[in-house]
Amino acid sequence: MARHREAVCRLCRREGQKLFLKGLRCFTEKCAIEKRNFPPGQHGQARRPKMVGYGVQLREKQKVKRTYGLLERQFRNYFEKAERTKGPTGANLMVTLERRLDNVVYRIGFGGSRAQARQLVLHGHIRVKGQKVNIPSYLVQIGDEVALKEKMHQNAMVMEARNLANTQGVAPWLDIDRENFKARVVALPRREDVQTPPMNEQLIVELYSK
Ligand code: SF4
Repeated sequence: MARHREAVCRLCRREGQKLFLKGLRCFTEKCAIEKRNFPPGQHGQARRPKMVGYGVQLREKQKVKRTYGLLERQFRNYFEKAERTKGPTGANLMVTLERRLDNVVYRIGFGGSRAQARQLVLHGHIRVKGQKVNIPSYLVQIGDEVALKEKMHQNAMVMEARNLANTQGVAPWLDIDRENFKARVVALPRREDVQTPPMNEQLIVELYSK
């Protein structure tokens, strides 16, 4: 599958806020937003242009898309699915993204970032209800048990991620047992359960409604 190849800190700098794409490093002074909070590129240090209308809507869409590590076509598919679902489209979009297996693995704390979590899924280290699932876009359901393969329990990256996760809030729709490297989906997430950098999904609805 095609992936975004640009250095991820540039994505945060473009949006002017932390998107937490790099795990532990995002919490240190090495974070590029702490050191160089201006857009990347030759003219980045010129004054950030004031955005209105389409520009604001576009940036909001990019922010959500980049936070969940999606390409344009995939993101558009999620939006179209959200539109077909009963309820507010923006909230539907956010809760569907939250149910992706790579995001759930990140929320549980097996990966320090969604990119690391996606790698664990792709490499076949994740079990859902005891079965290997290596599809990052798999949408978890109520009752699913998500677990890390035993061979990975002592992995340095996993241990670091778990320590980081222990300092963060817990997703209320997951019953997490970090000691035993597993979690159960006890409810579907609500919009207010989706803990991301500030995002206004209504602007995305307006963008795609043009
Ligand atoms: Fe880089 Fe993380 Fe800082 Fe974003 S939040 S600029 S990914 S270190």
